[in-house]
Amino acid sequence: MKKQSIQEVRRSLPIFPYREDLLAAINEHQILVIEGETGSGKTTQIPQYLLEDGYTKGGMKIGCTQPRRVAAMSVAARVAEEMSVKLGNEVGYSIRFEDCTSERTVLKYMTDGMLLREFLTEPDLASYSVIIIDEAHERTLHTDILFGLIKDIARFRSDLKVLVASATLDTERFSCFFDDAPVFRIPGRRFPVDIFYTKAPEADYLEACVVSVLQIHVTQPPGDILVFLTGQEEIEACCELLQERCRRLGSKIAELLVLPIYANLPSDMQAKIFNPTPPGARKVVVATNIAETSLTIDGIIYVIDPGFCKQKSYNARTGMESLIVTPCSRASANQRAGRAGRVAAGKCFRLYTAWAYKHEMEETTVPEIQRTNLGNVVLLLKSLGINDLIHFDFMDPPPHETLVLALEQLYALGALNHLGELTKVKLSEFKIHTGFHFCNICSLMLFSRYKCSEEVLTIAAMLSVNNSIFYRPKDKVVHADNARMNFVVPGGDHLVLLNVYNQSGYSTQWCYENFIQFRSMRRARDVRDQLEGLMDRIEVEVVSCQGDSVPVRKAVTAGYFYHTARLSKGGYKTVKHQQTVYVHPNSSLFEEQPRWLIYHELVFTTKEFMRQVIEIESGWLLEVAPHYYKSKELEDSSSKKMPRKQGKTKEELG
Ligand code: ADP
Ligand code: MG
Repeated sequence: MKKQSIQEVRRSLPIFPYREDLLAAINEHQILVIEGETGSGKTTQIPQYLLEDGYTKGGMKIGCTQPRRVAAMSVAARVAEEMSVKLGNEVGYSIRFEDCTSERTVLKYMTDGMLLREFLTEPDLASYSVIIIDEAHERTLHTDILFGLIKDIARFRSDLKVLVASATLDTERFSCFFDDAPVFRIPGRRFPVDIFYTKAPEADYLEACVVSVLQIHVTQPPGDILVFLTGQEEIEACCELLQERCRRLGSKIAELLVLPIYANLPSDMQAKIFNPTPPGARKVVVATNIAETSLTIDGIIYVIDPGFCKQKSYNARTGMESLIVTPCSRASANQRAGRAGRVAAGKCFRLYTAWAYKHEMEETTVPEIQRTNLGNVVLLLKSLGINDLIHFDFMDPPPHETLVLALEQLYALGALNHLGELTKVKLSEFKIHTGFHFCNICSLMLFSRYKCSEEVLTIAAMLSVNNSIFYRPKDKVVHADNARMNFVVPGGDHLVLLNVYNQSGYSTQWCYENFIQFRSMRRARDVRDQLEGLMDRIEVEVVSCQGDSVPVRKAVTAGYFYHTARLSKGGYKTVKHQQTVYVHPNSSLFEEQPRWLIYHELVFTTKEFMRQVIEIESGWLLEVAPHYYKSKELEDSSSKKMPRKQGKTKEELG
């Protein structure tokens, strides 16, 4: 019964009537651009059509890339279900830290980063008969690099089919880049969507979202709601507020199912958004822009769009990368609105003014390659043997000065020699295996002279799980903060993370009691194991500094010497560029305010915050990066001694 209905669904998708034409076009052309409305069936159906048409004969694989982990997992699960096979057998997925494929896998969904990694072991992708670069319009850094690499191998692998799939955006540009490849258009079904703007800008868009959801819920006919927010914290806050208000309203309103979706959400929770809404109830899905084009949720009639997204931005002058909440582009806003019109006429509530839409939003999102630190890209391409980066076939080349800065930084860090060649330490290998920021890895290398690889491995692993170690539920903030205080040791957040790791047991119970996220700890452990394996391969000895914090802090300084900030009136200033920054309130050094800090990253919320900071001595900067700092820059401008004692450096770690 169930299987039949799934087949019916397959046949009802907009792409289905074009199945034969599409297969014929693929047969005829080596490279084809496929354009289709979100939800038309590109991602789930095309690989199956190809399989049915014989493209996996002789064990050849069909690979389909996704910019997002969640999408790769969820789509693979859906396709396995449609084909009635176990996920991981014929249909599988591969994402960072998780390979759910086997010998039998012929349809492989993966993140674009994972396919890049495969180039290292299989430079011509010989085991693939078809590569689908999906969600091409997202223009992630990895997808953009894949464009160049795949265009190159397609020249000598005439048997390889390349499909570039995109929502209805930018397809002419893809065609142009791939030597005028034909564009196959799948006409979508779209119902009209009424768009509403606010009269005045919203001061608090989170609150405005909550109010809008409830208003729709009590005044509008049935139909599910999709809300776009920028990240996990916002989404959790929104869901909590909604649940709380519904509780207060009690039986006065119909049931409202509140479902979050974001990358770090456990997969069983992720799957819930696809469950049909029970009769009489209404579902509200609170999502990151993953729901813009990567995932299609059936039954959405109302969209609430505050008009923001979280974006990586890069300042080529300072070399700094930060994740900031910015207005999304008009193209994004239109995709978001489109989600309301898939099953019936819908409504989109934009929580910004029509004027802002017209004048404050960019037309399209700037490709990631133009707003990122290119260190990783350089390392990756170099390790693929591509030395001439200036002439690499980029669809949109990164700014020249960004590329030059990346080369300089890598030289400064000892990853490239004076000829611009990779040094024998294969940094890129680390990066590819672990998805790390290259600085982490460089510090891993550089600190080896500080004899604390044991500790730095742990810190690098803990930093890699993105601030998700500590669990801080809204209703238990005090308990959570107390638990966190128990882990505080002098010296800074890196040492706190080290302490958490060293104290942690493997039990969920321990994590629960200490307000530590079990999943994140497990991930950190995985990463650490991988790193330790790699250290072994490049023959760096794993040794411990036995509780002395100085070597550890020096090692971090070695890796992050250009992330230095100095205490100045009311806040901090970055050393090289005099940018005003602040210690994040969650930091263990928030009250202490030491004179010199290294920060792991900057996040801009209400102001520019340094997240994960560690106390250092300015003298170390001359020791680890003499080519970068002059002693004059590091002199203290104030003659007065700060009230802090400096004896701390010798203190033992917890
Ligand atoms: P496209 O890639 O063109 O945006 P998809 O192939 O992702 O379209 O989705 C086609 C249809 O498959 C969706 O409209 C939805 O009905 C269904 N679908 C996709 N993923 C899932 C899922 N995880 N659970 C249930 N249905 C899904
Ligand atoms: Mg898709």
